Amino acid sequence: MSKIIDEKLEGLFQDVVKRNPGEVEFHQAVREVLESLGPVLVKYPEFGEHKIIERICEPERQIIFRVPWQDDAGQVQIHRGFRVEVNSALGPYKGGLRFHPSVYLGIIKFLGFEQLFKNALTGMPIGGGKGGSDFDPKGKSDGEVMRFCQSFMTELYRHLGEYTDVPAGDIGVGTREIGYLFGQYKRITNRYESGVLTGKGLDWGGARARKEATGYGAVFFLNEMLKVRRTPLAGKTCIVSGSGNVAIYAIEKLQQLGGKVVACSDSGGFVHDKKGLDLALIKQLKEVERRRISEYATHHKRAHYVAKGNLWEIPCDVALPCATQNELTGKDATTLVKNGCRAVAEGANMPTTPEGVRVFLKAGIAYGPGKAANAGGVATSALEMQQNASRDAWDFEFTEQKLAGIMKGIHQRCYETAEEFGTPGNYVNGANIAGFIKVAKAMVALGLI
Ligand code: GLU
Repeated sequence: MSKIIDEKLEGLFQDVVKRNPGEVEFHQAVREVLESLGPVLVKYPEFGEHKIIERICEPERQIIFRVPWQDDAGQVQIHRGFRVEVNSALGPYKGGLRFHPSVYLGIIKFLGFEQLFKNALTGMPIGGGKGGSDFDPKGKSDGEVMRFCQSFMTELYRHLGEYTDVPAGDIGVGTREIGYLFGQYKRITNRYESGVLTGKGLDWGGARARKEATGYGAVFFLNEMLKVRRTPLAGKTCIVSGSGNVAIYAIEKLQQLGGKVVACSDSGGFVHDKKGLDLALIKQLKEVERRRISEYATHHKRAHYVAKGNLWEIPCDVALPCATQNELTGKDATTLVKNGCRAVAEGANMPTTPEGVRVFLKAGIAYGPGKAANAGGVATSALEMQQNASRDAWDFEFTEQKLAGIMKGIHQRCYETAEEFGTPGNYVNGANIAGFIKVAKAMVALGLI
């Protein structure tokens, strides 16, 4: 029985590859979910009859547009903008915008696909979507970033709305960019529609703890996995890749809970500080001065910086990949496990390659995939939407407590689902199956749309 279903899923996957040529990250994200779904189709044959998987793999709408803007030298620059509206069965499309030179349709589709299941797992009323551009904010002036964002929103605004599609940040998009985007949306529409974007500044409709939420949430999820194994986080040696928003607040929460974080990185290399990272310095370098992590070592002589080095070779108990997709390979996973790493929680989206995932699952370590472990960011975005809808502003502690409760709930859902479907402790199956079932049931209920 399940053999037939597996073959059917293989055929389905081959159709996705054929219909979306060259979009390798999208193929990878789809394959990973389909690999979990065989037993689901046995239990819920109606999902097959309603062609739920085929429909989920075809985004509801894909928007690609030209973004012309003028740089400080007066030169005209052209970039490409994207918004992929994956699925709105559970709520308005929700997901971030990524501004990075690597962005093309395949990256946005993989992110949107992951986002759909992640958002479903949060239990909040949000659908899935993602967008972005191949524009690189790195090294650009504030004026250039503003003109780019204004041009981007001048096209995108017609597709957005608090009940339609609600973008937020991702790599390269923080409060500064959301500010320029929100300003332009407000200007074009003549509406102060707070709920149309999340990740806003605290003075103009943003939610407390949103900035911290993805990193904090990943550590809350990690902590839940460790609790199951009756292992305390306090005293553990941790490494975190990246030094952007997710990494910084993962480090902060790890330190608050007694973890010893000895390394982080950026695209240039990693910094290793055996005494434990100086987070105030990292915040100053990255959030205020927008500098490279290499400068950490010029401030602290005890630390060393390794240009183009492999962070995953540093021995640790706990690893949090918080940089970008496919940053942790099968070889890296083998090295981590060999060096004693016993827990991995993904702050980034799909940071571990399929080979790496197999290594972690085979080793039986606690492995929390991104769509579960990093769902705290988007969950707090949904809390921001709640506050905007009721014109309220909650305090930090209350919001953080809500986030902690949501992460506990996500962990429980994944844990129980993994067990129910015969793979106890496998959070990959747990997350894929629990997220999928929630979306699929809503799609069946809403009819053929
Ligand atoms: N970009 C984040 C993610 O990958 C957050 C999305 C949001 O807040 O809408 O989940």
